[in-house]
Amino acid sequence: TSFGSLASREVVQQLQSAGYEAVFVGGAVRDFALGKEPTDIDIATSATPEQVKEVFDHTIDIGIAHGTVLVLMMDEPIEVTTFRTEGTYSDHRRPDEVFYVTSLKEDLQRRDFTINALAMTLEGEMVDLFGGLDDLEKRLIRSVGCPAERFSEDALRIFRALRFSSVLDFRIEEKTLEAMKKLAHELSHIAMERIKVEMDKLLQGKNSSIAFQYSREIGLPTLFPKLFSSFAQLDSFTPFLNARHGWAAMLLLSNVSSAEFARKFKLSNEEKRFLKQIEEASAIRVDHSFQDLELYRYPLEVLDIGERIHNAQFPDETTRTLEQLAERKNNLPIKQRSELAFTGNDLLVWLGRRGGKWTSEWIGKIEEAVVERRVENDAKAIKEWFLYEIFREE
Ligand code: ATP
Ligand code: MG
Repeated sequence: TSFGSLASREVVQQLQSAGYEAVFVGGAVRDFALGKEPTDIDIATSATPEQVKEVFDHTIDIGIAHGTVLVLMMDEPIEVTTFRTEGTYSDHRRPDEVFYVTSLKEDLQRRDFTINALAMTLEGEMVDLFGGLDDLEKRLIRSVGCPAERFSEDALRIFRALRFSSVLDFRIEEKTLEAMKKLAHELSHIAMERIKVEMDKLLQGKNSSIAFQYSREIGLPTLFPKLFSSFAQLDSFTPFLNARHGWAAMLLLSNVSSAEFARKFKLSNEEKRFLKQIEEASAIRVDHSFQDLELYRYPLEVLDIGERIHNAQFPDETTRTLEQLAERKNNLPIKQRSELAFTGNDLLVWLGRRGGKWTSEWIGKIEEAVVERRVENDAKAIKEWFLYEIFREE
């Protein structure tokens, strides 16, 4: 079994043919050693970004400041990063500068955890300078080098350790955890955008509850109550179906609006809209189980997550499964407005009146009546119902 796609192997091959060193590195090597299908493949090389661009016809500068060039090989984008170390970390955030180095060893040394500091050659030989394979075996997350130094260089690594504990279901090595605890307050210097990336992965990891447990051990809920107080209570909601499910549970455990929550965590507009629906749906769910109108209005994912969160909060109440929700949704008289057996224009003709605000109001009322089966979705039935109702109201 050979590592990587044909395209990524070709990239390594061509770099080597041009006289440079090139190996596979990072998460893909780790995942391969774990017997998992690797995701994005990273290549590290002794070639500088300029040299990489000379070797390949099609490249895109994506992170040239950090030494990364995207090579398009057989239509596949492959990240190629020059061996580098990082300059001083004056503000616990990001390296002030990157320095290209000629040795793979120095490149691997700057990586965060031993399991992420593995490299693999084209021939499938592992380069394991820091005991990463041993830690994979022991299922341990351990800093490369002195943990306290590594976390004070870049406090995001504290979050990355939590993230990997969740995703891989690994323990955190004792000294590493101790340093995380000592330096957890430094996370205040880290941009939320970077934390968000790790949070998304943490929330959908297979053992997110172990990450919440560690986060409590290192004091995150008390150090950052506005952000992470929910970490104290999230365990009963896990495992999450996806990251959005996790964000939703966090939202409902915090006492802020979805808008404020989304702003705080720098969520995308789409995530923000989703949480707004969750906020509404869960308020409804506390009051009563979802009725036809709610099943019609909310996407299946919102309903399902609403049910799951409700179930975690009120384990004694019966809740519906995804299949049950899907079936009920599927049995609704209509799935969307366009399926209604009349148009706004029909209303004008039936009533002999000019259009106005009343038109859209009545479309909405008829839509509800159809969904709730108070009138059949049939033009003749709707016409009768509508004329009767509007005269009754006026
Ligand atoms: P995933 O499978 O989720 O992509 P990954 O290990 O590849 O996990 P990335 O964020 O893609 O994680 O980073 C790629 C590699 O770069 C890591 O494996 C690690 O070697 C290194 N790395 C990333 N972020 C840091 C950091 N903050 N400090 C040190 N090394 C890092
Ligand atoms: Mg990766």
